[in-house]
Amino acid sequence: MSQYPNSPLGLSPHLWDVLACPYEHAAVEADEEASEIVCSECSRRFPVRDGIPVMLMDQAGGDLNESGSTSA
Ligand SMILES: [Zn+2]
Repeated sequence: MSQYPNSPLGLSPHLWDVLACPYEHAAVEADEEASEIVCSECSRRFPVRDGIPVMLMDQAGGDLNESGSTSA
């Protein structure tokens, strides 16, 4: 099924070269079981949909307590 069977999560090796956490731009790694990308720094998780990593801040899951405080 995957275009890149030897690459984590079937994503392009070139993609792994440039993939980084959108929060602190840390390296990310694959969670093959969950089919997710996990940040090595903040442990946020990013889904992969249709072979495309969704590296959006508002799509990230995790156990962080950021309940939308907008106070400056
Ligand atoms: Zn991170």
